[in-house]
Amino acid sequence: MNQTIQELIAFLSLPQKIIITMHRDPDADALGSSLGWASYLAGKGHEVTVISPTEYTANLRWLPGIEQVLIYEKASDQGKCKRKIEEATLICCLDFSALSRLKDLGKVVQDAQAIKLLVDHHLEPEHFAKWMVWDTNAAATAQLIYALVKEMEGNKPAQEIFDKGMAECLYAGIMTDTGSFRHGNVTPAVHLAVADLMLTGLDTSRVHRLIYDNAPLSRLQFLGYVLSQKLVVLPEYRTAYMVLTEAELQKFNSSTGETEGIVNYGLQVENVVMSAMFIERKGEVKISFRSVGSFSVRDLASTHFNGGGHKNASGGRSEQSVTETVATFLRVLPSYQSELLSVD
Ligand code: 5GP
Ligand code: MN
Repeated sequence: MNQTIQELIAFLSLPQKIIITMHRDPDADALGSSLGWASYLAGKGHEVTVISPTEYTANLRWLPGIEQVLIYEKASDQGKCKRKIEEATLICCLDFSALSRLKDLGKVVQDAQAIKLLVDHHLEPEHFAKWMVWDTNAAATAQLIYALVKEMEGNKPAQEIFDKGMAECLYAGIMTDTGSFRHGNVTPAVHLAVADLMLTGLDTSRVHRLIYDNAPLSRLQFLGYVLSQKLVVLPEYRTAYMVLTEAELQKFNSSTGETEGIVNYGLQVENVVMSAMFIERKGEVKISFRSVGSFSVRDLASTHFNGGGHKNASGGRSEQSVTETVATFLRVLPSYQSELLSVD
């Protein structure tokens, strides 16, 4: 057992006031790992508060324990969030490695007195946390939480440690961050964790349905529009991209959740190894990148679009207009051409 975990176990032997927070626009891994960890800690007698910097998408509203999540951005929650952070003895930072990913909450966490614990699988963490459970090879933060809890509990079988709700939360994170077990980050440890979690009675098929087959009709209609009208393929760069303006989003009444995952469709086009999506929203452009194999979108996202993430799934932001942002993308593409063409 490494020293971090030993120190953490010793610290948690007394009741603590714990904050769990995650990256903005939290996905199923951010929220699932946070809620699974929250449930474990609450079961051990700690006072736990889960704070998301921003709202989450509608398809995550079923996650067990989600009703306790405070939204820092919401005026009605902000005072309570600040008070809880001030009183906290431990702040757990899950599924992000840079405080900027917390939006306005970043400064509050940075200034807080509490000890910080980072649990994450993104590349290049900032070193703001005393304790780090950090592994870029882990498929999901939920996988890291699973392994951490197992280790803390002396590797007892899952059904003696986790209840079904915790297992659903962790499974949701692992399933989504592996693209339903099809990405390159799937290892034997992923399937072993899932097998173990299933011993709690976890219904994996139901979790999949609640996340992926639970969309408003408008999302499918919007998807139809994007794929038929907005998908551009550049065979010479083995790249696909889509650009969505604020006006288009408004026309389809699209909320944040309805654009999520659409970038992946670009990779379904034959021979394409990189897909990008540019979304104009609230005065900034949010960019999503996906790739396959050896081509790293993280370098592209961090070098040109103030972003980062994983080798095959990254994101970024731009304060330029959407037209200028896309022009930048098209301008830098040639410098990646040989790398794109050499992907197996
Ligand atoms: P998505 O395209 O789903 O928003 O993001 C894909 C991945 O890219 C996320 O898991 C996250 O790691 C990373 N990512 C997205 N947006 C940002 C950003 O603005 N900054 C950084 N550093 N990473 C991001
Ligand atoms: Mn994750």
